[in-house]
Amino acid sequence: MSNKRFSLALHGGAGSAPGHDYSQEIVHMRGLVEAARDRLAAGAAALDVAVETVVALEASGLYIAGKGASPNAAGAYELDACLMDGANGRAGSIATLQGFESPILAARAVMEKTPHVMLAGEGAMAFARSQGLKEIADPESWFTHAGAFESNHPPSLPKSVHPTGTVGCVVRDAEGRLAAATSTAGVFGKMPGRIGDSPLIGAGAWADDNVAVSCTGQGEFFIRTAVAVQVAHRMRFGGESLEAAAAAAIAGVAALGGDGGLIAIDRDGNVAMPFASDGVKRATLMPDGTIFSAAF
Ligand code: ASP
Repeated sequence: MSNKRFSLALHGGAGSAPGHDYSQEIVHMRGLVEAARDRLAAGAAALDVAVETVVALEASGLYIAGKGASPNAAGAYELDACLMDGANGRAGSIATLQGFESPILAARAVMEKTPHVMLAGEGAMAFARSQGLKEIADPESWFTHAGAFESNHPPSLPKSVHPTGTVGCVVRDAEGRLAAATSTAGVFGKMPGRIGDSPLIGAGAWADDNVAVSCTGQGEFFIRTAVAVQVAHRMRFGGESLEAAAAAAIAGVAALGGDGGLIAIDRDGNVAMPFASDGVKRATLMPDGTIFSAAF
């Protein structure tokens, strides 16, 4: 049954560095939640609001996605993103995309303009170009290297591989539709060609008619535990609450030695944001209109 309540959550990535001042990000995330709230109040669809919010997170240069991306070990910027529309089960994804401002817009174009779910590498770039998506003229001057200070990393990964800051958004609109979107530059020091969880439907994002999920953290662990769809299946087939399913999925990542977190929203607009990391930059609009924004 739909009701006119709406809610959302967004994240600016796990790997918040203890001691760093995130007040700019906290204010920025709150502003995005307010903008999304106004769009939802005007009747915007969950998918549109999720994409718009991720585009704004990418464009801010404050997080390690879009303009804030960090380069891979070879100095190239290979970006990943995906999205899923819970209203109809459609999904789109882009991986190792180079040279474009907004990976999430490329992922949306894959969903809407091709018979496929995922494009990667050269083919992804040729497709993005054919869609007229905005290209980056000079990567060296465009990227802000937002997370250069986020150098904490767990012992389970090689020293060159650090957790970073993906962005994501999950939305329940006034009609009860759910959507999820995730975008990232991946982990610091990643090998050329490395693909994490963020563009993988079921690992880095998921949305159906019951729940929408967006993840952040060491992608290898999120892939191995299929975190996003795991939350959905725990709820659908195991009868677990949103809170319990989200917490169990993150506990599974931690049990393997990984870290990170997720944001999730259910069909009633409830929000869960568990994490097993120092912090996650995150903000939420609760169904009663309350806004929360924090880094730790
Ligand atoms: N999950 C992302 C990846 O592994 C990184 C992150 O969330 O910070 O590519």
